[in-house]
This record gives sequence, structure tokens and C-alpha cells, in this order.
Amino acid sequence: MASLPHSAIYGISRASLSRSSYFARSTLSITAKATFKSDASQNLAAVAVPEDHQPTPTPSNETVLERALKASGPRNTWTREEIQEIYETPLMDLVYHASTVHRKFHDPSKIQLCTLLSIKTGGCTEDCSYCAQSSRHKTGLKASKLVTLGSVLRAAREARDNGSTRFCMGAAWRDMHGRKSGLRDIKEMITEVRGMGMEVCVTLGMVTDAQARELKDAGLTAYNHNVDTSREFYPSVITTRTYDERLNTISNVDQAGLSVCSGGILGLGEAKEDHIGLLYTLSTLPSHPESVPINTLVPIPGTPLGDNKPIEFKSVLRTIATARIVMPKSVIRLAAGRITLDDEKQGLCFMAGANAVFTGEKMLTTDCSGWDEDKRLLDSWGLSPMKSFEKDNSNPTMAAEEQEEKPSALFGTERSFDSVSKI
Ligand code: SF4
Repeated sequence: MASLPHSAIYGISRASLSRSSYFARSTLSITAKATFKSDASQNLAAVAVPEDHQPTPTPSNETVLERALKASGPRNTWTREEIQEIYETPLMDLVYHASTVHRKFHDPSKIQLCTLLSIKTGGCTEDCSYCAQSSRHKTGLKASKLVTLGSVLRAAREARDNGSTRFCMGAAWRDMHGRKSGLRDIKEMITEVRGMGMEVCVTLGMVTDAQARELKDAGLTAYNHNVDTSREFYPSVITTRTYDERLNTISNVDQAGLSVCSGGILGLGEAKEDHIGLLYTLSTLPSHPESVPINTLVPIPGTPLGDNKPIEFKSVLRTIATARIVMPKSVIRLAAGRITLDDEKQGLCFMAGANAVFTGEKMLTTDCSGWDEDKRLLDSWGLSPMKSFEKDNSNPTMAAEEQEEKPSALFGTERSFDSVSKI
């Protein structure tokens, strides 16, 4: 499979947000009244965007980038034009500024290790044109049933013992409709893996709000559901579910109190405007995703994109750096396709703000850098693995400054705020 499906490739708190704020992105200005209650026991939540982080009038001589660098928290009122201005910054400057933002909001020496397991491979009815698991493509991949609890626990234990702190499970399904026994079994997997002290993420296709709540009650930390690309380019990639259906699942996950993991895939044949569009969608959600996976296409023979040329690395780097600046508190994950990047390119991605990788034996259907290789890689850059539930605000100076300025925009206490999506 190309990248993580659902597309997995892969993490908001209970929020009574106006559902419409996920959708009408082009013409409306929507005010959504939200109440956020974070799960302090997990120390993970949405990257909430409080009222006082809404934009202030920009002095006429201040650039968008200068204003972004001064921000004390995330905001979700980005315009496409603003994101484009950042994205088109000369690359060396862009990486430098992204690195500055990264150091302001995260401990730059920490990288989270995540491991992904395919718990139900192949035979998917969707037509995602990058994915080996679609039954519509002739990739030779054999469909399999849901794996056993025992095999999940073995894989999770191995991942934990090798330093991974997030364990993700992916099933090649369009949605969870009519999968009562599957949901029951997966909830058991979630509970057991969570009991091992790991953050648990699943990607199971589209979910209803009730299903999302069941998963949350089972101990789930995060739910992955990627938007994949820009709204405009999306119909060129997938026709069997709409962009708004994806946003609806993200909304259900958000409202269930789960962390949202949502990102995209680069190299699908899109233009740079679609990288900007992807980041625009993610950064104008009512709350920024806790986790933003950036995948690059691994072309799979037999899929419609099987002959795609690899995307230029500088575009990947530019997207990561821009993501870091417009979603300063999110975890940016280097996901599928990382194996094609040498140590130096990965180091540049870390410099630009990426702070999580998938590691282990495999992604869902594509290869992955192994633990030993990644330990050596992190060590060579002077980086070290993040612990479970320990992200964000590790820079004590910044954390203290922020707390003086305003209540934490990310973790902690129950709070209410108006989030204004200018869309
Ligand atoms: S084809 Fe199915 S498994 Fe593959 S990315 Fe699409 S929804 Fe996920």
C-alpha cells in the first residue's frame, strides 16, 4: 500500500463545535462555540486555538512570516494567501524560521517513535489511487482477515521494547458500518495496548460519532484519518468518498474527545498549490490536529499512480517547514516514504520541525526504516526518542512565558472559547 491508508498515513478533545465549521471553507465566516475538556491522564489533546490567539491587526510593514514568528500559540484563521506567502519563502530562510518556531514550542532534541501494524490488510472497496489495498487495483496483494489479539500484543511489545511510544493499527476498511464484532475485537486490542503504557492510534476508515466514542472509552489516544491533499486535487485521487466525508469523520473524532491525526500524501501528481491547500485545510480546522503525518508516495505497481515520479525533496521540506509554522504545536510525523530519504535529508526534515517518525519493520504495505537504523540515525543527529504522553512545551522557558501570557492553548484544563474560522 502506498502510504498509510485512511489514509493512513497517518492524531482534539471533547468539543461541541459547530460541525459546519469543518466544511464550508470557501465563502463563509463561521463562529463556533466550543467547550474543550482535555484528558489530563493522557496529556494529549487537540491543539486548541483560543480566542486570544486570533489574529490582531497586522502593522502594514509586518510580513506574514514575521507575525507568525511572534505568535504565542496556534491560530486557525490562516488564509491561503498567507500560507502561500510562507510556503514561497526562500527555502533556507523558511527552514531557519520553521526551526525557530519548532524550538519555541517543542523540545527540538526529541523525536517520537511510532510503530504501525496492519491489522486487516487488503480487499478495501475504496479507490484511493495510491493504495495497494484497494480491491479495484491489480497489485497482487492478498486480502486477509482481522489479526488476532495475540499477534497485536506481540507486535506492540516488540515496538515498546524498541522505544516506540505510539502504536498505530490500520485496517483496510471504507468505514465501520456493520462491523460490530470487528469493533469489539479492536476495542480489546486498544485496551490491552494502552495498558502497556503506549499511546494507541487506529485508522479504520470513516467512523460515526458513536463509534468514535466507543473507541475513546476503550482507551484510544488518537484516530488517524488523513485528508490526503487539497480539496481541489482530491477528486483526482479518490472518487468513492468525498473530502467532506473525511472532514465529517475528523469532526466525529474531535467531538469524541480523541486526538486527531490527519495529514496528507505528497507526490500524487499535485501542484504546489495543493500543498498550500492541504495545509490550509488542516490549519483552519476548529482545532489543529494533534498529529500531522506527511507522507510521500511510494508508487505501487498496479495502482493508477504506480508510475509516478518521486516528488522533489525540496517540496517535501518546504511543506514540512510551512506546516511547522502554521501549526506550531502539532506533532509533524514523517510517515510513508521516509525510507527513500537519506540521513541528511531526514536531518533537514527534523531541522524544519518534523518531530515524529514511523519505525519498525513495515508501514502498512510499504517498507519502513527499522529500529536499529533509527536509533543510529537519531543518535547521529544528537536526537533522542520522546516518552509516551510527553510531547509539547518541553522548552521550559517558553512554557513558562506562555503560561504567564495566557492559559495553555494545548493541554490541561477544561476551557471554553470562541473559535472563529475565517474560511
Ligand atoms: S483504498 Fe482503502 S485501505 Fe487504501 S487508503 Fe483508501 S480507504 Fe484506506
